[in-house]
Amino acid sequence: MKQQRPRIRSPRRSSALAAAAVLAVAAATPTAVPGTAPARAGHARARDAGAAACALAPAPGASPLSEGIPTPVGHSRGTGRVDALTLMIDFPDAPGEGTARRRFREFFPQTARWFARASYGRLDYRVSAPAGRWLRMPRPFGSYGLDRGSPYEPGYHRLLTDLVRVAGPVVDFRRHDLVNVLVTPNAGPPAVRAVLSVSFAANPRAPVADGVRLANVSFVYGRQDDGTGSYPRTGFRVLPHENGHLFGLPDLYTGAGGDLAGHWDVMSEDWGPGNDLMAWHKWKLGWLRAGQVACAARRGGSAHTLSPLGRPGGTKLVVVPLSATEALTAEARTDEGNDDRVCRPGVLISRVDTRTGSGGGPVRVADATPGSPGCTREPNVHPGLSDAAHRPGQSFTAGARGERVTVRVTGRDARGGYRVEVTRGPASAGGRG
Ligand SMILES: [Zn+2]
Repeated sequence: MKQQRPRIRSPRRSSALAAAAVLAVAAATPTAVPGTAPARAGHARARDAGAAACALAPAPGASPLSEGIPTPVGHSRGTGRVDALTLMIDFPDAPGEGTARRRFREFFPQTARWFARASYGRLDYRVSAPAGRWLRMPRPFGSYGLDRGSPYEPGYHRLLTDLVRVAGPVVDFRRHDLVNVLVTPNAGPPAVRAVLSVSFAANPRAPVADGVRLANVSFVYGRQDDGTGSYPRTGFRVLPHENGHLFGLPDLYTGAGGDLAGHWDVMSEDWGPGNDLMAWHKWKLGWLRAGQVACAARRGGSAHTLSPLGRPGGTKLVVVPLSATEALTAEARTDEGNDDRVCRPGVLISRVDTRTGSGGGPVRVADATPGSPGCTREPNVHPGLSDAAHRPGQSFTAGARGERVTVRVTGRDARGGYRVEVTRGPASAGGRG
């Protein structure tokens, strides 16, 4: 039996803290083998015109939260109208701090705006908080035994069951695609000490309310305040991160933090200055239209112009498949849209691996300046990869299956797009052995 949902989000570090261990929790629930089930409407499909050869399928036996396309069934839809039922809860031993409405406003409308920008309007995130007050759980917080990395059983199962009972009289659970549970910040340790926030995606054992299973639920604890005073503007991003899991995205951080994907994706780092999702994630979520993904699968050369990821329109992603489970990706990253304080704009080149599950490093950013200390001193930004983007004149080469693949940034156009050339040929081409 494979490691299976519900998936547990591991705690992440904050600026001054040591890296937290990745906690992978097996829940041993038999479900469909990833890749054999059709995608739900709203996720990218392998048959996107022109890019089929580049949509890496989930690797056999891979975790359900992988970079594979399509996303396995059971996850929340990531496009079109998505109704996010949002409930604020407190406990007898942790009574609500301030009003529930104020807690709600730490995340909304910012989260809906963030998704609108990130998805170029393809995700219409609607939030409702019908209770309008703290929902008091019947047992003390401590009695649920919830800690960093706690699995679904038994604590979260008990908490969700209690929540359904308490919310029942005032909440209609029928019309929702996902549930956000915003926990009073005084329940549990401060987020700078331990991040408890967690999501249970495509969870077949979740309780049923009003005839609907609460299969996709994100819990948010504490306040991810980086201490710079930016919390009201950027602190909500734990929720897009958690909801990202409900839509099928894996964690990109590892036990060492954001050392592999840096600050280039909210699934890697959701503290600190604002950031976006990588282009591969946008494709997986169905946010890129046919024609916005260029697939460089054939031998020879091809030229592309990448439009900055933070603005709508144009080519957003060039994929160079290396095998059935690995690809290089290229995307243009600048200070636009959800990206905030990119200190070295350019073309970000990464390696995506569908065999590697959540928290294991499924995306590795290629560093254009290896060994440099980076170009940022922002807290909660992995510094070494902050200057990873490639500038005109720079290139990245990878070998795969006797081939040699090079992605070269050749220049910029008048609109700020980046021109890239991809060449792939025999490893021996060019006289290099
Ligand atoms: Zn996570």
